[in-house]
Amino acid sequence: MNEGADHATLRAARQGCVTQIGAGGALYFTLPVLATEPLVTHAFLTHRKCAAAMSAAAHVGARPEPDSRTRGGGAPISEPARSRPDLAAAATAVNLPPEAVVTMRQVHGSAVLRLSKAGEDLARASRQAADALFTTTPGIALAVSTADCVPLLLHDPTCGLIAAVHVGWRGVAAAIIERVVERLGDEAGCDAANLRAGIGPAIGACCYEVGRDVFEAFAAVGVTAAETFLPRSQDRWHLDLAGTVRRLLQRCGLRGAHIGTLPLCTKCHPAYFFSHRRQGERRGAQLSLIALQGRETA
Ligand SMILES: [Zn+2]
Repeated sequence: MNEGADHATLRAARQGCVTQIGAGGALYFTLPVLATEPLVTHAFLTHRKCAAAMSAAAHVGARPEPDSRTRGGGAPISEPARSRPDLAAAATAVNLPPEAVVTMRQVHGSAVLRLSKAGEDLARASRQAADALFTTTPGIALAVSTADCVPLLLHDPTCGLIAAVHVGWRGVAAAIIERVVERLGDEAGCDAANLRAGIGPAIGACCYEVGRDVFEAFAAVGVTAAETFLPRSQDRWHLDLAGTVRRLLQRCGLRGAHIGTLPLCTKCHPAYFFSHRRQGERRGAQLSLIALQGRETA
């Protein structure tokens, strides 16, 4: 399936997701489960820009410009050739100062890094190997970059906490979701029942074929649900990674009503997303951001 851009945004809108156009024309999605929370700003950014909308404005089911392959001439706007996400542009899109954005060196592991002061060296933190970041400090924006894996954004409005998590199949096998929820409870007093979770754009079960190695790695951490692995042929399955993340979050104590999912497959939507399975190593990566509002107090 290679769904058209307009159809994709409408489908997302029907699920309650909102297409937004940020400062600079960057197009991103938000989920109601986080957008209704007053303490946080969040965005699941695409690589798409809408040149006609250069100021921040929200549009439900916005109609972005046609894909470059369907319009004559001009610089291509789909699948731009860049290897690193543009942090400054992403921050600007959602009206955050670029220096507030912190990333991590994602390694498909289960290390969880806490950032406690906005004033600390966030650039240094960005070089540390980790697949989850969390903070209770206003003024820090946590970013995760993905290109088929699940970007997971978490917020506990009760204890004023945010987290950004990178979840691929190796992360599931390393129990990263369980580790994150446990750390949030141990170090920030977070009750999982209060956590809000936004599951961002990831490769869908439509496109994500895996083999016995993944099946067995999941079985080792107790993930064997029939809805997780859709049989295709001998020792081949289609994996529902986003659905797995949802089920693991619920297993950790999150309420189903507090979990939202952006229902767009990264491989099926080249007009919006980079995809490792579609593009290989030459791909870029999209950013997902969450920030606690307010100025740093440190
Ligand atoms: Zn797909």
